Amino acid sequence: MAAKIRMKKKNNKFGRKKKCRFCINPKMEISFKNERMLQRYVSDRGKIVARRVTGNCAKHQRRVANAIKVARFLALVPYVREHYR
Ligand SMILES: [Zn+2]
Repeated sequence: MAAKIRMKKKNNKFGRKKKCRFCINPKMEISFKNERMLQRYVSDRGKIVARRVTGNCAKHQRRVANAIKVARFLALVPYVREHYR
């Protein structure tokens, strides 16, 4: 009989699953005007942080990404930060 070795479900690096912050707190609105909130989803290089890092759900990550793109256009959030070279 073949060995029944089941891989345990891979644990998160930090031991717990991250939950989408916007699903937990529906009052938090995703808006391009809220740049302080958006800064949290932008890396120090200016890139949008991936969903697997932020723990957002697909729906909210999409909204965050769109809000960041609008905010970038309005120069509230930088496209790149050069001084990190
Ligand atoms: Zn969500």
